[in-house]
Amino acid sequence: MPYESFMKKIFPTELIEFLQCRHMAKLRSLGVVPDSTISEEVQLLRDKGIEHEENYLKTLNGNVVCIDTEASTDEQHTQTIEAMKSGADWVYQAYLQDDERAGYADFLQKATKESDLGEFSYEVIDTKLSINPSPSNAIQLIHYSELVSKTQGFEPQNFHLVHGDNSQTTLCRDDIIDYYNEVLADYKNFIQSREFTEPFPIPHCRQCGYRDHCQNYLQEKKHLALIPGVSVGQIESMRKSGIRVIGEVEEKERPIDLSESVFGDLQKSTKAVLENSVFLKSEGSFYQLQNSLKSSLFFVAYRNIQKQNGALTFYMGVMTESGRYEALLHHNSQEEKASLQRMVTFIDRYLHKHPQAFLVVSSAYESRLLHDLSNKYNICHDELDELMVKKKIVSLASLLRQSLLFPSADSSCENLMLWLDESFELEKILEKSPQLLYELYSTLGANEALEQIKNKGERELMLRLNCLRRLSSLTREDFPLRLKSVVLNDEA
Ligand code: SF4
Repeated sequence: MPYESFMKKIFPTELIEFLQCRHMAKLRSLGVVPDSTISEEVQLLRDKGIEHEENYLKTLNGNVVCIDTEASTDEQHTQTIEAMKSGADWVYQAYLQDDERAGYADFLQKATKESDLGEFSYEVIDTKLSINPSPSNAIQLIHYSELVSKTQGFEPQNFHLVHGDNSQTTLCRDDIIDYYNEVLADYKNFIQSREFTEPFPIPHCRQCGYRDHCQNYLQEKKHLALIPGVSVGQIESMRKSGIRVIGEVEEKERPIDLSESVFGDLQKSTKAVLENSVFLKSEGSFYQLQNSLKSSLFFVAYRNIQKQNGALTFYMGVMTESGRYEALLHHNSQEEKASLQRMVTFIDRYLHKHPQAFLVVSSAYESRLLHDLSNKYNICHDELDELMVKKKIVSLASLLRQSLLFPSADSSCENLMLWLDESFELEKILEKSPQLLYELYSTLGANEALEQIKNKGERELMLRLNCLRRLSSLTREDFPLRLKSVVLNDEA
């Protein structure tokens, strides 16, 4: 059966959600309404996004036709086509559609290339707060652009993003069209195939409107995905050997394709979940870093919205053991390139001077960001490659995940800290785990209690605790401000 005969039209959001989580795409296609409240951060981003779009609208010269978004979609489409045929300089909130796809482009801008419309045509412009384009942006833009081509009989080769700092990125159809067609075809097959999906905790769950729905599902099913740190492959292995619910993990035989230590850890962390406590692994790469962490550099990138121009930007910095910050702040591409070069040179020199040290990043995200920036400006490749080859970049989030398995869907460092802060009553913890109390007290700053437990000689916990402490000091909300003040002080 052809796709369009039984499905509603495809919007780009659906394709983006499909890439993030197939279960989300499935729930959406079944018409399940998201019911979880959105976080303040997401709401703030949405508000800022609308503000940015409206600010851009105010800067436009010429004849701007605004489509009435209160009208029916057919009426909006008619208005869009008429505006294009009339040769308007700009069409704002253009509603575009064909037999199987639809979408709202922020702006259509009149271009000089001829088309079926006359001696002009249109290109798509979308406003985005971020200062760098993402694959999702590309999917969205090409989706609109393909729909524009249906109306004007000519495929625009370019489409554009206006970022939060008002810089622009132009993307080229030829670079993206194959990828887009592949995603679109996969999505249509997925919907048609009626593939069975289930929730699996990923970082996006934190912002997802289906998170309560999914959490209830996992709890009701006593699902194996509730085991902290479990992978999809490990769930498969356990199911094949007859372990179907979380309560069976401790009772049943080890699946033959899981090693004793892996299955042992899964059993221990299952026990911790069922008892609402925390499993501390006794071995692991944490040990390898014990001494090195003392002299290591800590690198953090923190996403924030700049007050002055509303741009979504990154504050980044490196902190040495002595507490000295090297900050990487930027407001435009030139500054970004210069500060990346300065930062990587600093890291390179420091690590050569301190051969035992590592570059500790809060999560894999930061090392990816360094590489993305290096590719964007075509600088610092050798230095970053050397760090990779010598395994000098260490992700604190994975280390913590390996050594402290938390019953939290998203074990990002910030979430670990939040979870520690919010989830436990201290007295119960004392009964269950003096070690965890030690961690908690340290986080909450009860120094006296800390000293007492420290005197008992919990060396391993001390190391982990120090790590957590440093991490928490780096990921607190005021971190960007601290970075900024350091930069200002340095400049002064
Ligand atoms: S809550 Fe997580 S698993 Fe569920 S639909 Fe959203 S992203 Fe997917």
